[in-house]
Amino acid sequence: MLAMAGCGAAFAQKKPLDVTEFEPRSMLAVKETRVERARFPVIDIHTHISFAAKSAGSVPVSAARRFLAAPADLLLVMDAKNLRTMVNLTGGYAEGLADCVAKYDKAHPGRFLTFTEPMFAEAVKPGYPRKQADAIAAAKSAGARGLKVLKTLGLFLRENLTTGALVKVDDKRFDPMWEACGAHDMPVAIHVSDPAAFFLPTDKFNERFEELNNHPDWSFHGRDYPSNADILAARDRVLARHPKTKFIGLHVGHSAENLAQVAAALDKYPNFYVEIGARIGELGRQPRASRKFFEKYQDRILFGTDAVPGGIQTPQQIFGAKLYEIYYRFLETEDEYFDYAPAAVPPQGRWRIYGLGLPEAILRKVYHANAARLLNVKVG
Ligand SMILES: [Zn+2]
Repeated sequence: MLAMAGCGAAFAQKKPLDVTEFEPRSMLAVKETRVERARFPVIDIHTHISFAAKSAGSVPVSAARRFLAAPADLLLVMDAKNLRTMVNLTGGYAEGLADCVAKYDKAHPGRFLTFTEPMFAEAVKPGYPRKQADAIAAAKSAGARGLKVLKTLGLFLRENLTTGALVKVDDKRFDPMWEACGAHDMPVAIHVSDPAAFFLPTDKFNERFEELNNHPDWSFHGRDYPSNADILAARDRVLARHPKTKFIGLHVGHSAENLAQVAAALDKYPNFYVEIGARIGELGRQPRASRKFFEKYQDRILFGTDAVPGGIQTPQQIFGAKLYEIYYRFLETEDEYFDYAPAAVPPQGRWRIYGLGLPEAILRKVYHANAARLLNVKVG
């Protein structure tokens, strides 16, 4: 009879284990660095402090905002984490935008900046293209620093708002809006697609099975949804048609799993920049490719989290001071095999990440200098 260590289990009954209950603890004895404050001041270009008060399906339809966190709560975290400025991308338009700017930007100069958003409820009505371009000019006068485009465009907005054919990312009705952003020097933070796995069946081969199983509405598999490749191609046609408009591709240009593809877009479109929010899980599991990516595109990568410190906690927006520490650890240290989110089970997929240990010159650019240039602000 064999009595080798490790073989005994073969004779026992196999125990079933629900994957959602599996929480393995790493036995690796490796360096753990706590980075409480970023080495340089940070501009977080991707946060959501406010949202539309009303939506039809997943299409935001109101100018009015609901706020997720009070300035005082945010400033506590910001000061502790060396976070100089938070950019609230979902500032809406008209009176909602004015409310955001008054409550945050004007009340705390230099600490908060607000982006405007398209009037999606108007988009399928006659006269929209001109009206939207004018709204960009009005938003600029009201204090908006850029435009945010949610994946409403391409995945939710339909010809009858929530029914009918999907409106494509490169639909010509938005051309005057993209042009107005260029003319008014307002960068466009664009998020029009999602992780590649969201376009595949939610089955045992899907690396984000648990996430999609928890949020079936995040899946874009089936129905009349375009493929991820179709959406990215449409986005690229927009980048090509509006060379004077600067676009910030959120979530590593929506293609963090395929850095070669992001690099190709950056090479082809000099008006394209990327931001890293909610994608250190992807970047950190390919640390060698990521490090090269940061070296090569160090002038075009912006820091962002897609979070709300002190705000409402959702699996996607895991917030708070802890989250910033993980981002800093990822960028600044060479720590190995650590969690990319402060959660018992990693929310995006069951893997861990490796730090990039970026040099100071690149850190400075990614933490604030690249964003400061695009936003015309001074940090220091
Ligand atoms: Zn976001």
